[in-house]
Amino acid sequence: MSHSHNDIQPAFPAPEPDGSMAGPWSHTVRRENGELRVGGVKVSQLVAAYGTPLYVIDEEDFRTRARRWVVAMNTSFADLAGARVFYACKALMSVGIARWVLEDGLALDTCSEGEFVTALAAGAKGHDIGLHGNNKSEREIMMALEHNISHMVVDSMAELRLVERIAENLGKRANIVLRVTAGVHAGGHEFISTAHEDQKFGLSIQAGQAWEAAQATVASPHLELVGLHSHIGSQILSVDAFSVAAQAVLDLRACIHNELACTVPELDLGGGYGIRYTGADATPPEPEAYAELLATVVRAHGEKTGIAHPLVSIEPGRSIVGPAGLTLYTVGTTKNVQLDDTHSRRYVSVDGGMSDNIRPALYDAQYTVAVANREARGEGTLSRVVGKHCESGDIVVHNVELPADVTAGDILATPATGAYGRVMASNYNMLSRPGVVAVHDGSSRVLIRRETVADQLALDADYQA
Ligand SMILES: *Cc1c(COP(=O)(O)O)cnc(C)c1O
Repeated sequence: MSHSHNDIQPAFPAPEPDGSMAGPWSHTVRRENGELRVGGVKVSQLVAAYGTPLYVIDEEDFRTRARRWVVAMNTSFADLAGARVFYACKALMSVGIARWVLEDGLALDTCSEGEFVTALAAGAKGHDIGLHGNNKSEREIMMALEHNISHMVVDSMAELRLVERIAENLGKRANIVLRVTAGVHAGGHEFISTAHEDQKFGLSIQAGQAWEAAQATVASPHLELVGLHSHIGSQILSVDAFSVAAQAVLDLRACIHNELACTVPELDLGGGYGIRYTGADATPPEPEAYAELLATVVRAHGEKTGIAHPLVSIEPGRSIVGPAGLTLYTVGTTKNVQLDDTHSRRYVSVDGGMSDNIRPALYDAQYTVAVANREARGEGTLSRVVGKHCESGDIVVHNVELPADVTAGDILATPATGAYGRVMASNYNMLSRPGVVAVHDGSSRVLIRRETVADQLALDADYQA
C-alpha cells in the first residue's frame, strides 16, 4: 500500500506489545514501569551498553518462529515425502544467526560468496546449503561444487551451461534446481496471474524456457535435476498465491516425469511470507496454514497423477527474522510544521535513518514506532520520524501518533526491523552501520559489532592515521 508522504492521516500510536506472536513486536517485548524490555533486558541497559542506533534481535522470538516453520512443515508433510525449511540468509546473516538456524533444524539459503562463507563459518556442511542468484560468479559456482552443496538454483539457460562446464572441469555432478516462473506475482493481499514474464528471474514455463532447461539438465552427464523452484514475491499475505504457483510447478514436474522419464525429487516453493509491520496491518496467515495448504495441493496432485510425491522445501526469511528485530534510536531535534489551518506535523529526528533502514525510501514501506525509555504522557501528536541524512526522503516512520512530550534524549523503538535492515544498511553520509545485538533471558551479546569511522577509513587508500 502506498500513501502519499503528505497525507495528514492515518496516524495511530504503535500498538502496545502484547506478548503475542502476531507482531509487530517480538513476543518477549513488555512495558514494565514504563520502559520497554526485550528478551528480559531493559532498553536503557542496551542503550547504555551499546549506544544507538542499535538493531536488537530477540533470540527466543527468532528461534520460536524458525522452529515453528520446521514443525509445521514436518507435520503437514509427514505422510507425503517430507519437507525442508531453508532460512533465507539475505534477510539477516551472521555466524551466530546461522548457528541458531542450523541448531533448530533449518538449512541455509545463500546467494553470494559472502553468505556462503558465513554459513561455512557457522559450521554448515554442503548438504545444509543452497545457492541462489541470477548471475553467480564462476568462483561462487566452484565453491558450491567443491562443497557438494544441497542444490544450486539455476536461473537461466546461460547459467546452466556455465555450471555444466565448471562441473565437468571439476569432475563433479551438479545438483540443479531450476527456478521457473509460473506467471504468479504476489505481494500484500493481492496476486496476479499473468502468462507474460517481464522480470530478470527464472525460466518461463509459459514460454517453454523451463522445459528446454529441464531437457538439457536431464540430458547432461554433469548435471542432476534435483528440483524445481518457484518464488513468487515478498511480503505476501495471500495463501492462494502459493497454491496457484505450486499447481503450475507440479504440472511441469508431471510433464517432466511423463516425457523425460525423470521424477524430480524436490519442489522448492520459495519464501515471501508476509509479516505485520504496523498496527494497521492485518494479522498474516500462520505457518501452519501455509504448510497445510501446500500439503493439500501436493497430495491432491499426487493422487490425480499417480506420480511419487516430491520433497517440499520453502525459504522463509522475513517471517522468521522480521518481527524478531527492533531498532533503537535516540531522539535529537524536533520541529512542528503547520499543514493547514487545523493540522500540524511534528518532525522527530533520530540518530540514524535511511542508512540503517532504507525500506521506507526504497519501497515506501510503513513502520511504526514507540517511546521506549519511559511512559510517555501528553496528547497524541501527528508525527513523522526522520533520520539525520542529507535527503528529505530520509524517513523512518511516515505517520505515527507520538505523545507531545517526546524530546531530545528519548529512546524510540521501531518494531519489525529484523529483516532487510542491517543487510541493506549503507554508509551514506559516512554514517557507521549500527551493531546487531541478541537478547535472551535477561542478557545481551553482540552478533555484529557496530562499525566505526576507523573501520570506514581503513578502506580509504589515501588515509593516514
Ligand atoms: C528473497 C527471497 C526469499 C526470502 O524472502 P522473504 O520475503 O524474506 O521470505 C526466499 N527465496 C528467494 C528465491 C528469494 O529471492
